[in-house]
Amino acid sequence: MTALDSSTLDTKIQKIQGLLEQNSPFLRFPEPLEHGFHVNIQRRAIDLLNYSWWLVLGFYIFLGVVTWTQLQVFSAPPYQEQSDTVWRWIFLSEGVVIAILLGLPRLPRLDRWYHHYVAVISISSVAIITIGASAFADPFLNQYSSYVVILIIVIIYGIGGLRLVPAMVACMSAAVLSYLVIRHFDLWYNWGYFSQYVGLTNAVGILLGYLLERRDRTMFLQAELLVLEKYKLDQLSQEFNRLSREDALTGLANRRHFNEMLLQEWERGRRDRKPVALIFIDVDHFKPFNDTHGHVEGDRALSLVGVGLKMVLRRAGDIAARYGGEEFVLLLPGTSLEGAKEVALQVARSIQALHIPHQASNVSDYVTVSMGVAAMVPVGEMGSAELLAKADEAVYAAKEAGRNCIISVQSDGLIDPIPLRLI
Ligand code: GH3
Ligand code: MG
Ligand code: MG
Repeated sequence: MTALDSSTLDTKIQKIQGLLEQNSPFLRFPEPLEHGFHVNIQRRAIDLLNYSWWLVLGFYIFLGVVTWTQLQVFSAPPYQEQSDTVWRWIFLSEGVVIAILLGLPRLPRLDRWYHHYVAVISISSVAIITIGASAFADPFLNQYSSYVVILIIVIIYGIGGLRLVPAMVACMSAAVLSYLVIRHFDLWYNWGYFSQYVGLTNAVGILLGYLLERRDRTMFLQAELLVLEKYKLDQLSQEFNRLSREDALTGLANRRHFNEMLLQEWERGRRDRKPVALIFIDVDHFKPFNDTHGHVEGDRALSLVGVGLKMVLRRAGDIAARYGGEEFVLLLPGTSLEGAKEVALQVARSIQALHIPHQASNVSDYVTVSMGVAAMVPVGEMGSAELLAKADEAVYAAKEAGRNCIISVQSDGLIDPIPLRLI
């Protein structure tokens, strides 16, 4: 399914629900649903014929055996020979038609002609059974064959999947064709029975066509609704997933997602014996910023800082997260302390370049940050919390050192006393 925005999806769902609630006896769909329905019923009819051919064939042979036995038992002696001939004629020609109906769907090249050949097959089949059944001279067999006519029509229309209008056309055409054949070949016939069969075939064929189409249309709508609702649920769950990982104000990862990623990268670092680096970032004098510029401006400044952080991250595995309040964190897997210090400098430059005025800061006219950088190769019992604690300690030291600077944790675990500042 091509990507759908949620309002288009809702409109589609509402349209289908509306159609389902419409209890109209003749359900029609707007395009492109109608086209989809036709493709769908054709596919289903072809599939049905492909997997149930043996059942249909078996049933037809069984029907042949039963009718032949009945014929021998019930046919009155003066009609016996005529009855046998008519039976053979019906059984063989109807058999050929059923074989064609079962064989053609096995040729995928002919799929696009499916409705055409099924219509021709249905007309031939109904014509054969109409002509054949009315040709019995034995009045008992005339009566008896009515039931068989119904069975044959159920097979042809039920399995072939002819719908209401094509079924009506097929029934009428079969009636006309039967009449013309009987007339043309001057066959023995009984008009009373002939009209009975024409009425019967038409009634059963049309009723079946109507009922199957009505049922298929409802089922098609329900299936479409299920697909759309599943799509909607998937979309919602993706959205919830994203929201559960994202900080609403800045669009960066939230603390929960950061914690998950830190654990993951820490374990990867342990396996690969590679360092994991962390930069802890705290906005300087942010409480006074809010007091001076207001909370709305404060929020805007935080989201701008988020933009500044995103601009710095280039490597696929790097993550920028809002740790809480005005504190941010950068997770840099596979990065050495030197590399991380370089990134921290870029962060400072990036935030400086934003030029967010800060009237209540004693370090700059613009918003600045203090950063603590730490990098460790996970070994032994050491957990990721240790790395976090080191970076946090370094931020504290950066605040102590006068803010707007970067303090790192050396490889021996001690805080570097010399802060990095932008020149
Ligand atoms: P320092 O330089 O020592 O970090 O000073 P500070 O004022 O930034 O430190 P402190 O941690 O005391 O204050 C953080 C302030 O950040 C408190 C709160 O007013 C503000 N803050 C935290 N979260 C938000 C937020 O979502 N929006 C806004 N506008 N302000 C926030
Ligand atoms: Mg703070
Ligand atoms: Mg602060």
